[in-house]
Amino acid sequence: MTEETATDEFALQVSGLGKEYRSRLRGNNWALRDCTFSLPTGRVVALVGANGAGKTTLLSILAGLLAPSDGIVRLGGTQAESNRISFVAQDKPLYRHFSVRDMLKVGERLNRVWDDERAKRWLRRFDIPLDRPCGRLSGGQQAHVAFAVAVGARPSVLLLDEPLSNLDPLARRDVTQELLGEVADTGMTVLLSTHVVAELGGVADHLLLLSRGTLLVDSDADDLLIEHIYYVGPRASEPPCGGEIVKASHSKSQSSFLVRVSPTDEPTSVEAPWTTRPVSLEDLVIAYLESDRASAAAVAA
Ligand code: ATP
Repeated sequence: MTEETATDEFALQVSGLGKEYRSRLRGNNWALRDCTFSLPTGRVVALVGANGAGKTTLLSILAGLLAPSDGIVRLGGTQAESNRISFVAQDKPLYRHFSVRDMLKVGERLNRVWDDERAKRWLRRFDIPLDRPCGRLSGGQQAHVAFAVAVGARPSVLLLDEPLSNLDPLARRDVTQELLGEVADTGMTVLLSTHVVAELGGVADHLLLLSRGTLLVDSDADDLLIEHIYYVGPRASEPPCGGEIVKASHSKSQSSFLVRVSPTDEPTSVEAPWTTRPVSLEDLVIAYLESDRASAAAVAA
């Protein structure tokens, strides 16, 4: 992987990234193909995709834990008082016998820049006892220790692989609020993979959607909401206005279409009995995942 400097507008730029896992027993498998995208600085970017889509592979390459088979990752100019990238992996490895305080000391030793107060503030916010061995914390509490070590490192780019998976609904909301606060305070960029798409609204500024190793969506979240329209009306084979049909569903008497329009298209007004419905980020992600699954099934058939 060649590493060059990206522009300040982007925290990280990826070009033509690919990963082929090679195995004599199971054969070779391209988990990621020709991925090109940029992470805007100071934003929260959600990485979504079905199981096996390549999210962990992508994050592991960006974290420098896995060598890509193809492509380039360029990092943006970092702020002087920050590390480049922190990664909180899915299994959040902690030393079981180390106390939480000891884990912070490990963080301090391993990182060029360390902000102990920032790490301790995260732990205080979530009532995590500093003197308890990590092995005697709940899964959610262990996740908070991993987050505290990650933010204590003051990264320019924070990579989180399914950070919300061990957390109860209130903790999920609080963690996302806390992350948004960190982004606002420090200007860091967060790339988080998640299956909890219901909670992306108001959190993600940008969406990357992976489908079987290929990037299907790479868009600003607000642009996506503007560019998609839900039409509901009498049963029909076509929507009332043009655009790319992302999802069509039909009952006996009714049809609905999720349509992607070009940002340069004039807004179209729809005539009764057709109506339009607002689209949420969750609707969009689910529609793209469904259409992706349907096209994969069609190819397999
Ligand atoms: P999930 O949502 O289930 O965590 P994911 O999107 O993170 O999935 P990856 O774990 O990146 O997906 O896996 C992408 C593809 O690469 C899958 O087909 C997976 O089986 C394959 N894969 C992952 N790790 C390896 C490996 N070490 N060797 C061979 N194939 C692998």
